Amino acid sequence: MGVLDCKKHGMTGFIDVCSHIDEDLKNGIYPKMNSFPILDTKICNYCYKILELDKLESMNLKDVLNLPQNQIDKIEAIIGKKYDLIPDRNQHCIICVEEIKKKNEK
Ligand SMILES: [Zn+2]
Ligand SMILES: [Zn+2]
Repeated sequence: MGVLDCKKHGMTGFIDVCSHIDEDLKNGIYPKMNSFPILDTKICNYCYKILELDKLESMNLKDVLNLPQNQIDKIEAIIGKKYDLIPDRNQHCIICVEEIKKKNEK
């Protein structure tokens, strides 16, 4: 996980999100998030569908690392390509996102 300099919280961890989640978070809405496989990225239902990530969903890092190298290369290429297709990714401080989540639960 990388580090982001949040105006409110200083240096914190961040999550990488698609433009739709970015928009919701900016408006104080905690959206439904789907995990992008392997990477620390969250994407909305729409992007999830568009990128056909249901096919990759069952995969986790541990499973992938147990595969032969040529398989890993193939998967990495697919994931890399899909990652590039996520529209206007943006980073959000994880503490800010937690706060939005709590606010939305009330
Ligand atoms: Zn999206
Ligand atoms: Zn923050």
